[in-house]
Amino acid sequence: MQKLFRTVPIYFWFFTIWSISKVIQFIFNEEQTVWELIWKKSTGFCDNDEFKLFVYGILFASSIASVSVVSIYSYFDFSQKPAFIRKYKVNPHTNEPPDFRQFMKALMYSSITGITFLVPNLIFTYYGLQWRGMPALYPLPDIFTVLISCFMNDHIVDIGTYIAHRTLHHKLLYKHIHKKHHEYKSTIAVAVIYSHPIEHIFSHLLPLAFGMIIIRCHIATAWISIMAFMISSTINHSGYHLPFLNSPEYHDFHHVKFDSNYSGFGLMDWIFGTDKLYKNSIHRQRDRLLVSLKSAHELYPKEKNEKNGKML
Ligand SMILES: [Zn+2]
Ligand SMILES: [Zn+2]
Repeated sequence: MQKLFRTVPIYFWFFTIWSISKVIQFIFNEEQTVWELIWKKSTGFCDNDEFKLFVYGILFASSIASVSVVSIYSYFDFSQKPAFIRKYKVNPHTNEPPDFRQFMKALMYSSITGITFLVPNLIFTYYGLQWRGMPALYPLPDIFTVLISCFMNDHIVDIGTYIAHRTLHHKLLYKHIHKKHHEYKSTIAVAVIYSHPIEHIFSHLLPLAFGMIIIRCHIATAWISIMAFMISSTINHSGYHLPFLNSPEYHDFHHVKFDSNYSGFGLMDWIFGTDKLYKNSIHRQRDRLLVSLKSAHELYPKEKNEKNGKML
């Protein structure tokens, strides 16, 4: 199930926010939902200019999503508060707290790389979408079309990411490019796009661009899709497996074991047999949506696994 639906918890939360906005609309007898009002304000602010809405809109949406999620997880890491959150660490007693110099290095490097290459990639994607026939600004797609498009986009992106990531693990490329991303064996949120510019372009930006162009998504869908991508990628590197959110166990295993789990979802690894090590690990048992306040370590303790004779 995780192979196909890994990012669904994020979309569940988007759907919940949308449902609350519908309730607010009903209570106050408004003609439009909050979602529609935001879109109306945004199109008005950009004078209905599709280029501005696409490039500046995605830049704004992705920055807001990244900065807020990285800030929350970094607060957990540096403050070591709230105390109960410690039990959700994927690798307990690591980065408690993280090395501040390494954190600042990753933050500065990621910010410069992120902004420098995102804008040209968005311009490329915009013209690609124009070529494919970009959907009109109105009507705004309904929530189900948005979520299904985002879900399809995720899987297209994952194919591109898998190909790029596996290629970057080739011995001739690894030490020059991908080694930077693997400086963190036990990851923290800020490490999410801490990678060489070539990796950032081929592993993150181009798959995202082709995903949006292939599904010919609406600009508003592109906003949601990029926000969901940034949030789920940051969760994957956060080092915390929190209840009711995506499980980060799958990608965490890649950082720990190195030559397994190249894809974000797991489907491509399953097809090409690059998840054999993971299949026998405790990470696999813990790799699920937590639907109670019990941590993955409480539900699947190491000791219990050792008795079962499985690899750790
Ligand atoms: Zn890697
Ligand atoms: Zn990673």
